[in-house]
Amino acid sequence: MEVNSDDLNAGTGTKTVADQLRSPKPPKPSKLLKSPKPPKPKERVIDAKVSENDLAEQAEEVSLRPLSFADYIGQERLKNNLKLAIDAVKKRDDGTTLDHVLLYGPPGLGKTTMANIIAHELGANLRVTSGPAIERAGDLASILTNLQNGDVLFIDEIHRLRRAVEEVLYSAMEDYKLDIVIGKGPAARSVRLDLPQFTVVGATTRTGSLAGPLRDRFGLIHRLEYYRIPEIEKIISRTARLLGTEIAPEATQLLATRSRLTPRIANRLTKRVRDYAEVHGNGFIDTDLAEGALRLMEIDELGLDPADRNMLELILENYGERPVGLTTIAALTGDEAATIEDYYEPYMLQLGLIERTPRGRSVTKKAQDHLAKVRRDFA
Ligand code: ADP
Repeated sequence: MEVNSDDLNAGTGTKTVADQLRSPKPPKPSKLLKSPKPPKPKERVIDAKVSENDLAEQAEEVSLRPLSFADYIGQERLKNNLKLAIDAVKKRDDGTTLDHVLLYGPPGLGKTTMANIIAHELGANLRVTSGPAIERAGDLASILTNLQNGDVLFIDEIHRLRRAVEEVLYSAMEDYKLDIVIGKGPAARSVRLDLPQFTVVGATTRTGSLAGPLRDRFGLIHRLEYYRIPEIEKIISRTARLLGTEIAPEATQLLATRSRLTPRIANRLTKRVRDYAEVHGNGFIDTDLAEGALRLMEIDELGLDPADRNMLELILENYGERPVGLTTIAALTGDEAATIEDYYEPYMLQLGLIERTPRGRSVTKKAQDHLAKVRRDFA
């Protein structure tokens, strides 16, 4: 795939790690980082995504982000593999870079954080962009030609890259070359540019949507798993420490069980409960205050919120235990099918609250028992 030289004047939409770390101020929403479709302004504490409109939350997330393997809790297999690969690159010291890395798994599990750590451990600059932000092949060409040797290019939501953009990425990732067409019409000629050696770290919630040729260009492909409760407890303790809040061990355990095994949600719950404890107590988070805050947010024992339970209830009301298609569920709840697939569903599947069959999703007996219990508890 060739890029027209006219397309090369677009901005890069990338930031270095140093840029990100230097300023606690919320990042400015650049053109490239903006998704074409803003999410619905519906606030959910339990939502594993960060609202693009909530700049304060984005800034806070950056401040809580671990910067080294030592601070990154859990995901031991991923860490060990990456450490080994990074150590090998450092040892070789012959100008070759780390293989391209693809990280996949549900949102909020630490893919962006890991991209930051990879760059940090390599002593490299991190450039950040995302699939939907790169609108034209020229935008990508502009990003690539502005890279320096050894840079790490993080592409979030890489499954959402446009086809034409993706094709430019193939040869760039494969042999660090970029084909550009200079001029128009019969006088046009093609030039092959050498690019610096760089590493792409791609993040996606679904590998299934990634084109085969793109997937094949990643040397290291890793799935991020849901965290175990003791790991989430450690994350909550670390976050409370960074926020300057004291929390009782029992309250930490309680919050960990409600965090959907997801660090982003654990952090968000910790912040909400801290606020509650400041208003209703003296700031120290004990079990009673944690329970009060969870009750106020209507987060149940499994970490489900009213929107999750509403989805399960709607399916049961309309279809009973019969399987139902994703688009029908989306029509019932008023969400986009992709939101259900990426945000609601993975955790519910993991818990066995819904089952995925070739004919659709069905609500399990376990979910029905849980809903009945919640109705009694919140009555
Ligand atoms: P993703 O890119 O997968 O959506 P992020 O990397 O943005 O997720 O992680 C969300 C937040 O969760 C980060 O700000 C970070 O504070 C926290 N976090 C993620 N993984 C870990 C971890 N392994 N240890 C500690 N905190 C983590």
